Amino acid sequence: MTPEEARRWAEEARDEIVALAQALIRTPSPNPPAREEVVAKVLQEKFRAAGLAAELVALGEGRANVVARLPGSRQAPALLYDGHLDTVPPGEAGAWRHAPYSGELEGGRLYGRGASDMKGGVAAQAMAAILAHRAGLTPAGDLIVAATCGEETDSAGAHAFRRAGGLEGVGGVVIAEPSANELFIAEKGALWLEITTYGRTAHGSMPHLGVNAIWKMHKVLGALAHFRPSADKHPLLGEGTVSLGTLEGGIKTNVVPDRASATFDLRTVPGRPHEEIVTAVEDLLGRLRVDDPELKAEVKVIKNLPSVATAADEPIVRLARQVGLDLWGRDLLPQGVNYYTDAAVLVPEGQIPFLIFGPGAPTLAHQPEEHVEVEKLVEATAFFLLFAARWGSGINFPLFLSHLRKEGAPAPPCPTGR
Ligand SMILES: [Zn+2]
Repeated sequence: MTPEEARRWAEEARDEIVALAQALIRTPSPNPPAREEVVAKVLQEKFRAAGLAAELVALGEGRANVVARLPGSRQAPALLYDGHLDTVPPGEAGAWRHAPYSGELEGGRLYGRGASDMKGGVAAQAMAAILAHRAGLTPAGDLIVAATCGEETDSAGAHAFRRAGGLEGVGGVVIAEPSANELFIAEKGALWLEITTYGRTAHGSMPHLGVNAIWKMHKVLGALAHFRPSADKHPLLGEGTVSLGTLEGGIKTNVVPDRASATFDLRTVPGRPHEEIVTAVEDLLGRLRVDDPELKAEVKVIKNLPSVATAADEPIVRLARQVGLDLWGRDLLPQGVNYYTDAAVLVPEGQIPFLIFGPGAPTLAHQPEEHVEVEKLVEATAFFLLFAARWGSGINFPLFLSHLRKEGAPAPPCPTGR
């Protein structure tokens, strides 16, 4: 398939791409409460109607993934297109001029919760597979399109997909999270910590008889204000950060509090394992205890997603840049993102190279008046189509498979053609 053909297929399917994105937006799937099965069925039906096999994987309680497959000639490993079906809730209805589930079109924009993050991306990936099928394309490797549930909270769908062996034989992953059709190849990790300090309650008129958990927390906060997750600096991601997110403690003004807790959002870069960072926080609290033996504090990990990155010279990155050049004459310079995606669940050890590329705008995710530009939807569909058509040309497939079989083996040397 030539770049012109890919562009033409996508252009001619413009209305169909928009209609699919609209249908997904008009089927609400806010998380919480995470009942994605209804929207999963809409997508499955679209695949089926287009003659592509698509499996609905029910995960109970109204939750489900959809996995479609366009069989390849098996000369290359499979290519996985991944997206999520859930959205964040719409929030304050009054903040929207276009109702959040309206899927309204205005001024070349498609509005609604999930338009950018990321029902637009899911629609573009699905339509690319459908157009490839319609064009009679047999890719070198199977093209798998997975739309999973739960990304906005616990990544339940991605975990289930992985556990069920969904990544077997997969040599590359493209996640359609909002990137405004730019190329992201690295994402920060998220390490959320809850720290609780303990004291001893007493009447507020006799504070000397108690131990004030909030004053102890005050010391902890002071120490953590200067904490750095690591000294590493990543060329695309920069440095790790620490944000104090919540703080609570105390029940009444005249009662010495015996408990206080705070949660911290640490964003990390590759290099230092999260276990080591947790140990460093615990050591910090240990040092505070040397000065103040009454300070009792406990650290709990409440979210743990590693930072993942694909090397800039991986063939999958070169392929994406070449496709960008051939479609638009634009070099997609690899960038990093601060947010995390299901890549942290799907390829936590970086054993399979991944990319983030999607039509949505990262700045619109989770915002009122969320929308996606129709032009970007069509462009992304052409990109996914040409990328799949070129995937795996000239690959050494047996060598790749032998790498996959080795447990914990590093990334294979040549997952796509050069
Ligand atoms: Zn998302």
